[in-house]
Amino acid sequence: MRAVVIGAGLAGVSAAYYLHQAGVEVTVIDRQPAPARETSHANGAMLTPSLADPWNSPGVFGQLLKNLGRSDAAMLLRLGQIPRLTRWGLSFLYHSNRSRFEASYLANAALARLSQALLAQLLEETGIDIEFSAGGILKLFEDPTSLEKAVEVAHWLKQTGVNHRVLTVDELVRLEPALQPGASRLAGAVHFPDDQVGNARLYCERLSVWLADRGVDFRFSEQVLGFEVRANTVQAVDTPRGRLDADKVLLAAGSFTPKLARQIGFRVPVAPAKGYSVTLSTAPVSPRYPVVDDVLHAAVVPLGDRLRVAGTAEFAGYDERVRRKRIDNLVRLLNRVYPQISLDGLEMESWAGLRPMSADGRPLVGQAGPENLFLNTGHGALGWTHACACGQLVAGLMLGHEPTKDVAPFLASR
Ligand SMILES: Cc1cc2nc3c(=O)[nH]c(=O)nc-3n(C[C@H](O)[C@H](O)[C@H](O)COP(=O)(O)OP(=O)(O)OC[C@H]3O[C@@H](n4cnc5c(N)ncnc54)[C@H](O)[C@@H]3O)c2cc1C
Repeated sequence: MRAVVIGAGLAGVSAAYYLHQAGVEVTVIDRQPAPARETSHANGAMLTPSLADPWNSPGVFGQLLKNLGRSDAAMLLRLGQIPRLTRWGLSFLYHSNRSRFEASYLANAALARLSQALLAQLLEETGIDIEFSAGGILKLFEDPTSLEKAVEVAHWLKQTGVNHRVLTVDELVRLEPALQPGASRLAGAVHFPDDQVGNARLYCERLSVWLADRGVDFRFSEQVLGFEVRANTVQAVDTPRGRLDADKVLLAAGSFTPKLARQIGFRVPVAPAKGYSVTLSTAPVSPRYPVVDDVLHAAVVPLGDRLRVAGTAEFAGYDERVRRKRIDNLVRLLNRVYPQISLDGLEMESWAGLRPMSADGRPLVGQAGPENLFLNTGHGALGWTHACACGQLVAGLMLGHEPTKDVAPFLASR
């Protein structure tokens, strides 16, 4: 079987790995000159079953309305986007109902745990170094009510095997002394010990090299322009270099997947949600744990010898500009968590990426549109956390395996 994978980000490269392991002849096409040059490039680096909640939590509508046009908001909807988001937006709101939200949260957390186990196997098999570290993340809270609510949720999440430990401020500072200077504002924290960190860009780059050495054909700087579809089957993928025959085609083009699908005549309920990161090339503090700020939907993450602040969401369509005010929010968070840091003279790399956000907060995996076309997208804020599990699931479906009960919540045909 010959499979063409469109996209060399986390979704495409992971699927390519599992297809290759199953003996499939794989070609990966990407318009960029290297893997992970779009949303998988400088993300928050966290593998987090504990943060598997979809962003359309109950009450999200009011929150979005309140934040309209506020550039310091964690989740910002730009006014001009409202007409473009109508259909997706209604579905996003429909799924913010408590029972649907909770069902998606549990399914996502279970998928995240599966993905962690698969990543461990993949790292052992390939031997690639991705700046991986385990030990968990810390969620900090400034007011006792938010802490109490978070503890309730953490207890509830335990049913998926996600462990946690509630920490007083003293216990927190003992665990992470770098937090001492900013600790007076805190009410407490929750430690999720099973969460992990890894560099998503290195994963894509190094796994691609490993796969290329074993015969997977990577074609970079090549844009997919369209498809030849006959008898409800994609016969070939068209690029400026010509046509590429395929038995199976996987769309893993991130936020651009809906645009490609539309060319074939079907809809993919995914919208771009822009997020930002700032990476400090030499870390002025050396924390051990990523620190998550619940209010800002952002995190400060130690990554190798660097420190990255990543997060926030902005519904601004396909506008990929890095906006100064949004970056300032992340820098403010860094200063709040680590007030001892002086930013003068520090080298900072600012970045923005478009998260492919599904309307119901779960990834979309499996057949869609023509019968030999498959999707691996819609991972939103969890594309790294879910990368291996979704790669394995979609590869299985492309090979014709019957979908198991575990895949049902994620099937693209749902
Ligand atoms: C600020 C931020 C922080 C994040 N933090 C985390 C985190 O801590 N943990 C986590 O789990 N997730 C996180 N995420 C989410 C995660 O990064 C994404 O879900 C993931 O990168 C999506 O991967 P992808 O492969 O679907 O998309 P992409 O990485 O965008 O890959 C799609 C690829 O398709 C290619 N492409 C598109 N159209 C075409 C075409 N026509 N022809 C050829 N190639 C094409 C693109 O060039 C691109 O390389 C974060 C995201 C952001 C923005």
